[in-house]
Amino acid sequence: MSLGQDLITITQRPDTVFSTGQGAWLSDENGKRHLDLIQGWAVNSLGHSPALITQALLAQSQRLLNPSPAYYNRPLLDLAARLTAISCFDRVFLANSGAEANEGAVKLARRWGSRHRGGAYGIVGFEQGFHGRTLAMMSASGKPGWDRLYAPMPPGFAKAKLNDIASVEQAISADTVAVMIEFVQGEAGVIVADRGFVRELRALTAERGLLLIADEVQTGVGRCGTAFAYEQFGIEPDVMTLAKGLGGGVPISALLCKEAFNCFEPGDQGGTFCGNPLMAAVGLAVVDEVCRAEFLAGVQARAAQLSAGLQALVRELGLVEERGLGLLRALELPLPVADQVVTAARALEPVGLLLNAPRPHLIRLMPALNISAAEVDEGLALLRRALTTVLD
Ligand SMILES: *Cc1c(COP(=O)(O)O)cnc(C)c1O
Repeated sequence: MSLGQDLITITQRPDTVFSTGQGAWLSDENGKRHLDLIQGWAVNSLGHSPALITQALLAQSQRLLNPSPAYYNRPLLDLAARLTAISCFDRVFLANSGAEANEGAVKLARRWGSRHRGGAYGIVGFEQGFHGRTLAMMSASGKPGWDRLYAPMPPGFAKAKLNDIASVEQAISADTVAVMIEFVQGEAGVIVADRGFVRELRALTAERGLLLIADEVQTGVGRCGTAFAYEQFGIEPDVMTLAKGLGGGVPISALLCKEAFNCFEPGDQGGTFCGNPLMAAVGLAVVDEVCRAEFLAGVQARAAQLSAGLQALVRELGLVEERGLGLLRALELPLPVADQVVTAARALEPVGLLLNAPRPHLIRLMPALNISAAEVDEGLALLRRALTTVLD
């Protein structure tokens, strides 16, 4: 019997079943421990099974699971109030995944275009961008090959080049209603947008009457060392989406907008599980913990430590570079051996190291935001061992 024979195959998985997690550590059914620098793809902001989340789940599950989206519930109202208090936005819609929040952002932009811009509907995104796996978000994404995988794809999504404002101007047409950007392209390989480019983009979209949509599904809620990445670019988007880190491991996402773009009418948008109190209670607990100034200072300190350690590895082992923003970082290798490094790291004894390779030359690191200084050092030491195994 082979593992996973009853599953529809969607990816190649190692022959390991992970069974328990605690903080930065994930253990498999054989009892082997792994230092986890993936954390559910930048999802477990507070590490595996933190008491804050298990307690929020337990308390809310005993109180109320789901009254339906037709009614208000207290965690929904509280989380929305918290998100508007700590951001530049005025309104919130809660959903379940990043792709769903992004779909909502596109719907909101198109609704606004139908009201105020003579039916403009087009969205300009970026080459290599990633916005999720629904059909429309595959169109919005700039992943090579995705325009053919499930053709025909929903139309209305143009592409520009990140950090190239002329390419954005070129991609804008009379039908364009919004530009959608990741300030750090995560799946593309942790490519940070230039500050100057983002400011030019903000000015250009304002001048042309276009919405600026920030996909902060990966960068938001403390991941980059500030509550939201946009703060570090000195601009305010019109619309923002959050997901991954917002739930700290449970499925919840959010669409936020300024009052001027709050243009859905009853019935325009919804979803059975959208705004359910169980997930909203967790989101509230996560936001309250992660977006405190002292917590964010800790993220910045660990990010500086990790970055310095990765730079030392670059110098010692002749790698290409390390880059990133906050605790979303990547190490670029001189050879396309990232998958081998991932495998070697997992196989280390007595403890393994869990890494992600979004590109053949690239290792991505997305530790828990509350990882300790000692765990960062241990991760760097394990990473060095895995790298030397493969590169020597
Ligand atoms: C992961 C991700 C998404 C998709 O989120 P899902 O929850 O997988 O639908 C969208 N945008 C960005 C930037 C992401 O990193």
